[in-house]
Amino acid sequence: PYKGMLADEVLEKRKKFLGPSLFYYYQKPLNIVEGKMQYLYDETGKRYLDAFAGIVTVSCGHCHPDVVNAVVAQSQLLQHTTTIYLHHAIVEFAEALASKMPGNLKVVYFVNSGTEANELAMLMARMYTGNLGMIALRNAYHGGSAGTIGLTGLHTWKYSIPQGEIHHVMNPEPYRGAFGSDSARYAKEVEDHINYGTSGNVAGFIAETFQGVGGAVELAPGYLKLVYDIVRKSGGVCIADEVQSGFGRTGSHYWGFETQGVIPDIVTMAKGIGNGLPLGAVVTTPEIASVMSKRIQFNTFGGNPVCSAGGLAVLKVLDKEKRQAHCADVGSQLIDRLRTLQQKHDIIGDVRGRGLMLGVELVSDKDKTPAKAETAVLFEKLKDLGVLVGKGGLHGNVFRIKPPMCFTKQDADFLVDALDYAISRL
Ligand code: PMP
Repeated sequence: PYKGMLADEVLEKRKKFLGPSLFYYYQKPLNIVEGKMQYLYDETGKRYLDAFAGIVTVSCGHCHPDVVNAVVAQSQLLQHTTTIYLHHAIVEFAEALASKMPGNLKVVYFVNSGTEANELAMLMARMYTGNLGMIALRNAYHGGSAGTIGLTGLHTWKYSIPQGEIHHVMNPEPYRGAFGSDSARYAKEVEDHINYGTSGNVAGFIAETFQGVGGAVELAPGYLKLVYDIVRKSGGVCIADEVQSGFGRTGSHYWGFETQGVIPDIVTMAKGIGNGLPLGAVVTTPEIASVMSKRIQFNTFGGNPVCSAGGLAVLKVLDKEKRQAHCADVGSQLIDRLRTLQQKHDIIGDVRGRGLMLGVELVSDKDKTPAKAETAVLFEKLKDLGVLVGKGGLHGNVFRIKPPMCFTKQDADFLVDALDYAISRL
């Protein structure tokens, strides 16, 4: 049994020593002390089915033995020196990652988080094109640093600071968007925005192919193809933020952007790439990377031996355990069952996503009024029943279901049964 610090004391110290901007889930936050694959354990030993994976970070599974062993073995040998010396782990990892990328996306930069990855991508876009303006989507989340806060298109996360030349265009969101799934109309809006709101030239366009924080939104089909063309004609480069949607999670493809049939100029990633290790990456073409050689681009911890060894182990596990196919298989059962549940309960307005990257949006009427209060009640109830999901969307009325990729069909059934039970007793 767990003998460490209990929830009340942790919370008290957190309030005293950590910043007041932190938020937590649940009226009485959980003190999670252990994790094993798709399960988490609190201080009392209660087991939870983890359907949110530390905000879509744990890809292989909590404490997956192959990843743990790789990290431990490397930690015992050498933890850190930086890239001023040679080390095999970073090049092995970079080679393995590059082999997963399509087209000419072959040059890898390692960083420590998604925010850093997007910062670097934006810098590259501006250096390469000589332009400043960035186009991002409303409802996007790309980070919380001074630069990426500008790219983020959700007011909850935005502090009022100068955010550079950033243009937020309409979100091509099938369920709530003004043009439904009509990609051509959304794309025209981007073109208009460039023509009316910029000098005519932009540095780049960035989008998550499946919005995460914004509430598990899959972009309207065909949207990226149309917009990439428009942006490239305006001198910009196209950036895909794969921080949440990469590594096979969507089931049908390894990368989210592949579901839209495009090849970006720059791809950013984090979270699932490290199964919990602080790790991020930017992958681009040799041509774009070459402009960065005008100065030194250096990152003390980026690609350190421990994270590189762990990251390489993650890639191997996902291949060995055929996780992409598994996500497709389990995800299709889960989405089918959620759609059946939608027929039974009017409160479920939309079920969306692919693989193990799903969203369930709760509404209180036919006008799609966000069911905020009910979502909060159900969220607590699911936790009591032993199921942890995420919450998202501008109105906090979307359940985000993005478990570790080892999640099974039995787990999926348990989750849907728990949701059915909780809604039935609202
Ligand atoms: N991009 C996306 C799509 C994200 O979901 C997040 C984090 N939620 C980030 C970027 C920023 O990543 P980090 O918190 O690692 O800086």
